[in-house]
Amino acid sequence: MSRILVTGAAGFLGSFVCDRLLEEGHEVIGMDNRVSGQTENLDEAFYHDRFSLYEHDVTEFIHISGELDAVLHLASLASPVYYRDYPIKTLKVGALGTHKTLGLAKEKDATYLFTSTSEVYGDPEVNPQPESYRGNVDPYGPRSCYDESKRYGEALVRGYRDKHDLDVRVARIFNTYGPRMRLDDGRVIPNFMKQALTGRDLTVYGDGDQTRSFCYVSDMVDGLVALLESDVEEPVNIGNPDERTINELAEVVLEVTGSDSGITYEALPPQDPQVRRPDISKARSELGWEPQVSLREGLERSVEFFEAEV
Ligand code: NAD
Ligand code: UDP
Repeated sequence: MSRILVTGAAGFLGSFVCDRLLEEGHEVIGMDNRVSGQTENLDEAFYHDRFSLYEHDVTEFIHISGELDAVLHLASLASPVYYRDYPIKTLKVGALGTHKTLGLAKEKDATYLFTSTSEVYGDPEVNPQPESYRGNVDPYGPRSCYDESKRYGEALVRGYRDKHDLDVRVARIFNTYGPRMRLDDGRVIPNFMKQALTGRDLTVYGDGDQTRSFCYVSDMVDGLVALLESDVEEPVNIGNPDERTINELAEVVLEVTGSDSGITYEALPPQDPQVRRPDISKARSELGWEPQVSLREGLERSVEFFEAEV
């Protein structure tokens, strides 16, 4: 059994990561300031006496007594709607929060896993995106608080690896969805689910020809755990390469919800990336991982949760 700190534990991905680590028999310390997370996401985790939750802002000094084997840093604002509302908090959690958690990992001689993002590639000029692609990010653009904080976070991780010989992992996560996403999260799948289940038109931004590649949460958790357990110290893309237009996504959501909602077209947010698709060759060869759940199946598995939420 290992003793593992998970930041962002009350969030969508963090809570599923906690559940998985507890199932595998580890002791898990969750940390969250609940800026976008919800304690209900941890209802299953609290069944285990090996789980505890600290309400703490990771941009402040972190004290954990006893040993730690791993630090998994998932805390961040993650939805474009949230990070547009809280640009400074977003920058702080990616910069100061990453610094504090790296310092803790160094102190405890723990393995460190950083949850980076496909947004480090910005609005990519290369599709699909391999890890070697250096990206197309506007440093003063409307999404830069998120993109640049994650790029800076990766650079800090690299610094701790080179300077302090810290054992590090960097996951570049692509769009992930599933139960426990907040209905008011603002990301496309909770928006479409809420709209389809309440008989309102689905709001497609722009002409809907922009693409994303959606990964179901159980596949993402498998990928993150495989990365943690590997010895790969370079960034690895984790995501589902099944690329869809937002119009296609809207059609699948209407089908799986059995909704007769229509579609309305709204303005595209500025600098919304046109395409996004992971090249997962590295995850396949180095982690032996690839996603198993199709878009339709993942959406079908999520409907019950969103129905209960609306
Ligand atoms: P989420 O918003 O559901 O969870 C993030 C959690 O971090 C929340 O519970 C929030 O309260 C917490 N948090 C934020 N700032 C904090 C702070 N200063 N101190 C303590 N806690 C803080 O988001 P998510 O989708 O679960 O994302 C988890 C991680 O994965 C994030 O780092 C995100 O950038 C990354 N990621 C997610 C996706 C995705 O599609 N879900 C894609 C790329 C990267
Ligand atoms: N989007 C949309 N309607 C919505 C919410 C989002 O058409 O109600 C689009 C958004 O413009 C983007 C894509 O869906 O092109 C994915 O957006 P999301 O906010 O989920 O994540 P992103 O990949 O942009 O970070």
